[in-house]
Amino acid sequence: MKVIRKFDPWKSELCTCPEKYSFNPYTGCAHQCLYCYATYIPRFYHLREKKNLFRDFERDLKDLPENSLISMSNSSDPYPPVERERKVTRKCLEILRDYDVRLLVVTKSDIVVRDADILSEMRCAVSITITGLDLLEPNAPPTEKRIEAIKNLKDFGIPVILRFDPIVPGLNESRMDIIEKCMPDHVVTSTLKLKPDSLARVSSVLPEIKTIYQRGEKVGRYTYLKREKRYEMLKRVEKYCRDLGISCAFCREGFEFDAKSCDGSHLIK
Ligand code: SF4
Repeated sequence: MKVIRKFDPWKSELCTCPEKYSFNPYTGCAHQCLYCYATYIPRFYHLREKKNLFRDFERDLKDLPENSLISMSNSSDPYPPVERERKVTRKCLEILRDYDVRLLVVTKSDIVVRDADILSEMRCAVSITITGLDLLEPNAPPTEKRIEAIKNLKDFGIPVILRFDPIVPGLNESRMDIIEKCMPDHVVTSTLKLKPDSLARVSSVLPEIKTIYQRGEKVGRYTYLKREKRYEMLKRVEKYCRDLGISCAFCREGFEFDAKSCDGSHLIK
C-alpha cells in the first residue's frame, strides 16, 4: 500500500494548497483534539505504527518527480509523545534527506526541535499549530512549549509557519499575542469548521458552541460560521500580521489573501 499519496484536501473547493503529497509516519493521532477533522478515519485516536514503513516509504520516494513537495503530516501528527523513544519520524527524515524533495512538517509538538539538526540541512519549513486552546487539545503540548519550539527552530535558521488555527468565536479571537510572541515567517489561520462528531465533542466542553453554529452555514460536509463573521475575524488576524510585517493566509475560507501560499510552502528554498 502507498504511504506517500497525492494530498486530498478533503474535497474542499475552497482549498488553495499548491500541488503536494501527503505522508503520515503514524496512523491515527494521540493528541485527541476535540475539533479534529480527521476522525472519519476508523479508530483515529488510537495511534498505530505502520508495518514495513521504511521499505514502503523508500519505494514511494523513488517514484516521486524531482522537487516534489511533501507535507508531513496532514491527518495525524508526526511527533506524538511516543516519537521520543520510537524515532519513527526521525528515521524517515534520515531517509528523506537523500532525495530531491521539499518538505513541509506540520505538527503541534515541540519534539520537532529534537530533529532541527537534520531539518536545517534539508529544503524544508516547519508549521506549528498554536491556538491557545489547551482545553480543546488535551494531549498536545501546552501553548508555551510550542511558542518556545518556534523560537528554537528559528535559531536553527529553519523557516517557521504559525498555524493560528482554528479560531473559535469568543474563545481565542483575542489571542493574537501568540503571533507576536513567536514572530514566525508566515501565519496561516482559519475559523473553526465543524462536522456532527466534532460538534458533539467541542460542545461537551463549550455548550454555547451549538447555538453559535446553528446560525452558521453549510460548506460541503462542514458547518462554518456565517461568511461576514468569518471575514471580520480573519481580517483582524491579517491586519495584526501586516502590522508586524508577517505574511498571512487563510485556509479553506474562500477569501483572497496576499501571501505567496496558504500553507507557507513558498518559504522552502
Ligand atoms: S493534532 Fe491534528 S490530527 Fe492530531 S488530533 Fe489534533 S487536529 Fe487531529
